[in-house]
Amino acid sequence: MDFQLVADTHTHALASGHAYSTLLENLHAAKAIGLSFLCYTEHGPAMEDAPRRFYFHNIKNLPDMVEGVGLLKGAEANICDYEGTLDLPEKDLAALDWVIASYHTQVIDPSTKEDATRGWLAVAKNPLVDVLGHCGDSHYDFDQEMVVKACKEHGKIIEINSHSFEVRQGSKENCRSIALLCKEYRVPVVVSSDAHFVTSIGKVGNSLALLEEIGFPPELILNGEYNRFLQVVREKTGRFQ
Ligand SMILES: [Zn+2]
Ligand SMILES: [Zn+2]
Repeated sequence: MDFQLVADTHTHALASGHAYSTLLENLHAAKAIGLSFLCYTEHGPAMEDAPRRFYFHNIKNLPDMVEGVGLLKGAEANICDYEGTLDLPEKDLAALDWVIASYHTQVIDPSTKEDATRGWLAVAKNPLVDVLGHCGDSHYDFDQEMVVKACKEHGKIIEINSHSFEVRQGSKENCRSIALLCKEYRVPVVVSSDAHFVTSIGKVGNSLALLEEIGFPPELILNGEYNRFLQVVREKTGRFQ
């Protein structure tokens, strides 16, 4: 497949309370493996031990480039209820470069397929969200076709999270069917590591193998080619011109 990873779009650092490297270590790793961008997407404040709101408010003061790597200052917001409510205020979400929204069992008890679908549909409609995070998690099975079509309608990106295949039950099968729908409806995806330690930065092999297996169109993998991802970054941040 014609693919060159240019950005890891989902990474954590010490501030999450359950990750073990600094942001600078992650940036150095990104540089060492030739990435052009790193999305720093710390867990939102609804997760225990996660940083508080001011952390995300203040993050805009970090530099845009660190030693040649573009830093996208983001968050992995928690979906807190099945109406799609997120755990950061709108004005803070709007100021971030890259917003992933995810369900986590630490924050929201799994419920019915109808509930999980309703939550995702609300997230898909939220203009402050960029990416639906690790949606292959079988704790939150949902109507995949309905949600993928909503992503198409509202310009959302679906994440194929490589780490999920190892830790989230049922992820591979779900990611496969979700990716097949993305292929069918031409919905863009990103592949990500969800790194919680520096050695995982850029590890997206599981996601790539799955996408190759199903003949996924490489042009729909947004972080698989420099100019393609740069265009996304420019649209979302207005910077990096
Ligand atoms: Zn997550
Ligand atoms: Zn994460």
